[in-house]
Amino acid sequence: MSPRTHKSVTVRVPAKVNVQLAVGAARADGFHDLANVFLAVSLYDEVTVTPAETLTVTCSGPDADQVPLDRTNLAARAAEILAARNGRSDAVHLHIAKNIPVAGGMAGGSADGAGALLACDALWGLGTPRAQLLEICAELGSDVPFSLVGGAALGTGRGELLTPVEAGTFHWVFAVADGGLSTPAVFREFDRLAEGRSIPVPQAAPALLTALASGDADALAATLANDLQPAALSLRPQLAATLEAGTSAGALATLVSGSGPTTAFLVRDPESALKVAAALEASGTCRTTRTATSPAPGATVLPS
Ligand code: ATP
Repeated sequence: MSPRTHKSVTVRVPAKVNVQLAVGAARADGFHDLANVFLAVSLYDEVTVTPAETLTVTCSGPDADQVPLDRTNLAARAAEILAARNGRSDAVHLHIAKNIPVAGGMAGGSADGAGALLACDALWGLGTPRAQLLEICAELGSDVPFSLVGGAALGTGRGELLTPVEAGTFHWVFAVADGGLSTPAVFREFDRLAEGRSIPVPQAAPALLTALASGDADALAATLANDLQPAALSLRPQLAATLEAGTSAGALATLVSGSGPTTAFLVRDPESALKVAAALEASGTCRTTRTATSPAPGATVLPS
């Protein structure tokens, strides 16, 4: 047995919340132009890649049974694309230790795609330039480039064209709902609700970017905005009760995270995070909660 058989690489990748998600009209290709202010939060999946006979995927964690283990898994797709580009075999075992809610609007699948890409690149010793890794990420999905870079960034186009933005530290609580929401279904509902209305060109709000940079939670609370929220609430009206429970418990602001159904609560400090999380769990309006801070680093190879 060669020593290589035992080698493995683990990458840690953050979830995201969109502090602003401005959605434009549907484009001819079906996608929507977005102005998407991404913030990486300290809730992580870990992807471990090990040499194997064939490409296989396993997953552990409370939501593991909802994660596809075939080649539709974004982690498997990432390994496949990187291997094909380099004319080599994609025979690896990918293990996902899943902590990010599945189909929750927190880019969990995207995180695993970015994580697997970086892990395979390290395992295979390819040293792929960052620009090429980002290109593959964009091919995998609109949110994948941000999972790689982390921090805070403005995403334009369909969200994949990133410009880093400055961000101070913020504290969050996330309420995880029962069951997921399909992102395409939420965009379809957005289109239905927007019918007959003129949709402005999406733009990042200057006041929001200033608030983000300042680290002032009250200022950020006043500017949080998600154009997909009415669509997510229309498909999942029960989320209104979760948002209400967070407000009553003292959250500075509430927001559906991306396409939902995870809801995000901006709080002043770690103590209020614990208080709001406990109140949300006691309210019976969500399955579970997580607390986190932002910004968090992007995909990172962990020391072996
Ligand atoms: P986004 O916020 O980017 O819209 P999401 O957080 O709402 O995404 P994901 O957790 O990425 O949703 O899952 C969406 C769907 O993608 C799942 O229902 C699942 O079928 C599929 N999927 C593919 N790969 C993965 C993965 N590694 N982890 C979770 N889901 C995956």
